[in-house]
Amino acid sequence: SRCSFHRCASSLASGVTAAPCRKTIFSGIQPTGVPHLGNYLGALQRWVRLQDETDKNTNLLFSVVDLHAITLPQDAGALKKSRRETFATLLAIGLDPNRCSIFFQSMVPHHSELMWILSCNASMGYLSRMTQWKSKLELDDNANPLDPSTKTKLKLGLFSYPVLQAADILVHRATHVPVGEDQSQHLEFAREIAQGFNHIHGSILVPPETLISDFPPLAAPAKRVMALDRPAQKMSKSHPNPKSRIQLTDTRDDITRKIRVALTDSIEGVSYDPMTRPGVSNLVDIVYHLDPTGAASPEELAKEFEGLSLKTFKGRVAEVVDGALAPIRERYGEILADGGKKVDQAAAQGAEKATQSADATMKLVREAIGL
Ligand code: ATP
Repeated sequence: SRCSFHRCASSLASGVTAAPCRKTIFSGIQPTGVPHLGNYLGALQRWVRLQDETDKNTNLLFSVVDLHAITLPQDAGALKKSRRETFATLLAIGLDPNRCSIFFQSMVPHHSELMWILSCNASMGYLSRMTQWKSKLELDDNANPLDPSTKTKLKLGLFSYPVLQAADILVHRATHVPVGEDQSQHLEFAREIAQGFNHIHGSILVPPETLISDFPPLAAPAKRVMALDRPAQKMSKSHPNPKSRIQLTDTRDDITRKIRVALTDSIEGVSYDPMTRPGVSNLVDIVYHLDPTGAASPEELAKEFEGLSLKTFKGRVAEVVDGALAPIRERYGEILADGGKKVDQAAAQGAEKATQSADATMKLVREAIGL
């Protein structure tokens, strides 16, 4: 069969324009804390299902993007711990280092090299319109990077974050990138920067697709799991309130306590309406997304819980969450019981595979630009 997505590196090197090659999926997670239920339901759960359910010929790359984490200040000791914990979590949820490349971004320097090359052609104007640096600095949407007050806060790394993210994807010639809704602007940037490069240098980089609708599983991932204490904002690893998120390694007691104090409302009973009852609806959504079959819709689930008091409902939600997370928590404990050796081993294996994949692209890129 002929590849419908792109020309593979080996065929380009030999001058053949279309040859069979693999679909390649790339996605990443920042080691900014222990992954939480939002990361799991929005991304990680899908990574495992892609691993287990897609055609074995698909090339899967999952990265702990530690170079992205340092776009905001990090304590060195805490970052070291988070990198290991994040990697251990990826193994605990069921990613298999023999089936996919699981690696630390910083162990594959090709990512940074391609970032530099792409930066030489990335537009400051385009980057200044991206929203991520503004939201990370809590600036409004009209913030201008050249305003004196913004300039002092904004670091070059945070501003150029989308260029590194584009390099992460393009260096592996990824055809598909399963990311949450929050990342769609960056993916569009990656597509445009790839097209711009190809326009000058020939068809070398692969503009990636966001959607993976032709892959099982088709059940949609959670768009945004909201914070337990502020249901208007998404659950995030780096928020200072630990009760705002359920970490994948939380104990049964932690889970029960955090859900018991989750912000809801004073309306009797359970119903589903994210606009008027965001707190209760977020809990219903969590139960919905934890059922891999998605058999009952959130509205149908809310009907089943309808007559319960919010206290009893929260108890039920905690049971469902604990039921899903208990096996992950147990495997996580086993993985780290050897002081991190299993993680180091898997990381070395992943870096070797990811280096091979990135090296093939960088040979073509260097040649094309005259290096
Ligand atoms: P940070 O708080 O440090 O910004 P984060 O929790 O937002 O981190 P990332 O590492 O940036 O997480 O994202 C990893 C993946 O998880 C991405 O695909 C992102 O779209 C997804 N994701 C993050 N938060 C949520 C959420 N609350 N609901 C659904 N998906 C999410």
